[in-house]
Amino acid sequence: MRIVVKIGTSTLAHKTGLLNIHRVEELCKVMSDLKNAGNEVILVSSGAIGMGVGKLSLAKKPTDIPTKQAAAAVGQCELMYTYDRLFSQYNHTVAQILVTGEDIEHADRKLNFINTMARLLELGALPIINENDSVSTAEIEIGDNDTLGAIVATAIHADLLIILSDIDGLYTADPHKDSNALLLHKVEKIDEKIEAMIGGVGSNLGTGGMATKIKAAKIVTKQGIDMVIANGDNPENLYDIVDGKNVGTRFIGEK
Ligand code: GLU
Repeated sequence: MRIVVKIGTSTLAHKTGLLNIHRVEELCKVMSDLKNAGNEVILVSSGAIGMGVGKLSLAKKPTDIPTKQAAAAVGQCELMYTYDRLFSQYNHTVAQILVTGEDIEHADRKLNFINTMARLLELGALPIINENDSVSTAEIEIGDNDTLGAIVATAIHADLLIILSDIDGLYTADPHKDSNALLLHKVEKIDEKIEAMIGGVGSNLGTGGMATKIKAAKIVTKQGIDMVIANGDNPENLYDIVDGKNVGTRFIGEK
């Protein structure tokens, strides 16, 4: 299977903005194992800005563009250094690709991106993609990595997009506010009822909430690709998700 795993900042970092070492080590171990089992794994990783915030000891996530971009420039190094070190332990070679909205919208650049990805996968590398936050501004940004994950999964004809977040999946209501909220295991069609379940749930460090995840689900399911939203707090869940077991919420690709 060709699997795109999107990891949000809230999964990678503690609330302090510093790396959740145990979590990231486990994630890299499981993804390495999935790759050893014959799957192609592509990572869309957030965390550049969040980790830059930690590394630069900023009090909170910046709101102005230049500070966000500066934090991303610092944090992206830390992020790739971490992935390189951890995946190397399992003999996997990582590759960094940073993209902006313009790269994806421009046909020639998109084709270059697809060709590079295809070659990297042929070479057995593990591509790690993030938005090029240091040059993206409002006009050319994709904005959130849920959408980026969906664009990547579609462009490279993935079989599955897994979005790991700090929420178990899509609930019938906001689980923080409503104790009767139920987790949906399977969504066959994204209709108005599903749209109505989107709360404004988000975290301190990340960018997307449920709305960006549903948007991502719409993009990929239209292309026949399944998408799963699951909690990133237990990386071992990735095995069950790949096996098609009931973890999180699975949006079924249109066949
Ligand atoms: N590209 C941003 C980062 O790496 C995150 C975007 C998102 O959280 O969706 O910090």
